[in-house]
Amino acid sequence: MIAGKQTVKCPLCGGEGVTAFVKPSYLQGKTSRISAGAKTTYHRVPESVEYQGSCPNCGKSAAEMQRATKSGLSGKRLSHEERMRRLRESGFPTTIGTSASDR
Ligand SMILES: [Zn+2]
Repeated sequence: MIAGKQTVKCPLCGGEGVTAFVKPSYLQGKTSRISAGAKTTYHRVPESVEYQGSCPNCGKSAAEMQRATKSGLSGKRLSHEERMRRLRESGFPTTIGTSASDR
């Protein structure tokens, strides 16, 4: 996959026809010198999408779509529901956040 202008789906309404500049994800190697020799570690650089125009379907601006993609792809800003699900899966008690509203 080559980076370039593409027509992609709108992250907000799912409609097609949004022009964006897409850079595919790739593996970036990093060599670190340690006492036992050199060690190469790879980390994946995630795909990046830069929206060029507004959505022809819902009319959202490029900036709004950009925000929607960032919160969706980075995995750092999870929704409350997703966070609670992950906590449950890791065996963490999920009573946090409910006790305060009881009073
Ligand atoms: Zn849209």
